[in-house]
Amino acid sequence: MISARVQEAVTRLPALPAYLYDLPSLDEHVASVRRALGAAELYYAVKANPDAELLRVLAGHVDGFEVSSGGEHAHVTGLFPGMPVALGGPGKTDAELRLPHHRIHVESPNELRRLLATGREADVLLRLNPDLPVEGAALTMSGPFGMDEEAVAECLPLFGERVRLRGLHTHLASGLDAEQLLRLAGALLEGAYDEVNLGGGMAVSYAEPRRRFDWKAYGAGLAELGRGRRLRIEPGRALTVYCGCYVTRVVDVKRVRGQAYAIVLGGTHHLRTPATKGHDQPFTILPTGEGPGVGDEPITFVGQLCTPKDVFARNIVTTVRVGDTVVFEMAGAYAWNISHHDFLMHPKPAFHYLRS
Ligand SMILES: *Cc1c(COP(=O)(O)O)cnc(C)c1O
Repeated sequence: MISARVQEAVTRLPALPAYLYDLPSLDEHVASVRRALGAAELYYAVKANPDAELLRVLAGHVDGFEVSSGGEHAHVTGLFPGMPVALGGPGKTDAELRLPHHRIHVESPNELRRLLATGREADVLLRLNPDLPVEGAALTMSGPFGMDEEAVAECLPLFGERVRLRGLHTHLASGLDAEQLLRLAGALLEGAYDEVNLGGGMAVSYAEPRRRFDWKAYGAGLAELGRGRRLRIEPGRALTVYCGCYVTRVVDVKRVRGQAYAIVLGGTHHLRTPATKGHDQPFTILPTGEGPGVGDEPITFVGQLCTPKDVFARNIVTTVRVGDTVVFEMAGAYAWNISHHDFLMHPKPAFHYLRS
């Protein structure tokens, strides 16, 4: 369900498809997350959405930004000189290892040796890939990310005056609720580290957009676990996903061997999220159309790409007409910036920002 403010703005969009970002709602949301977290530090994981307008809103609330490439680093430090950045990501180049940072998240013993070889000063968190069960996660970050306990042990003697060990970093999984994250945090914090970055991955539900991560419970849990330790988190998706929508229009409706389809302008080359995650993107239809329709039956919403993978949502029982406006919600994170924009050379969407 979209707000009255967004709905009104949608009707004024000059051309479709378009992205619309609700900046006041982002501001409100991040302020409430900040309040819930108490003493724990909040960084935003820029890879979720690096849009400068969103970052400006976020910068008013977060303690810093987590960047995972030289490109993100240049983008963020260009926009906010002096704002703390934590530099992470697997496979950092020597040039990236030389970038200024508040913290650098080291991913392997060899990366630490290359960092030492630069001769620079650095404040390091070692990224641990902990051997903890993560049930119910949308995406667990096992595999190549971070280090096992043995590799962490290999790193410990390498630290010295210029390259300092500050603590531990971990990004456990995507799509976890507060209770799961706190259980994992509790296991990690049994170790003797003064500073721990617990990563991001707070759950969002595309199936139930109103179900939100319990920031209050998480903040209260962190306060209890922290006890004098410096704790930091770096969510991406759960901060920005709700503030964006992708607005488009139905160009055709049809039935093929009994299956009803609505074809919209644009496609998953603008909003890749449903194709990568295999979910139905939540949407609202505004009845602006006067063309032929299909109705009260399961309808599959597809885009203009010549591939069967270009699907936004499958078999949703609704009614739709040619000319209707379709507002795909929860498109503020891992949406435009992860999409394959040039495939088929359709026009790119415009970007609009609600400011009040
Ligand atoms: C992707 C990522 C994040 C953000 O994850 P979300 O699921 O968007 O909250 C945080 N930290 C690291 C290291 C990541 O790779």
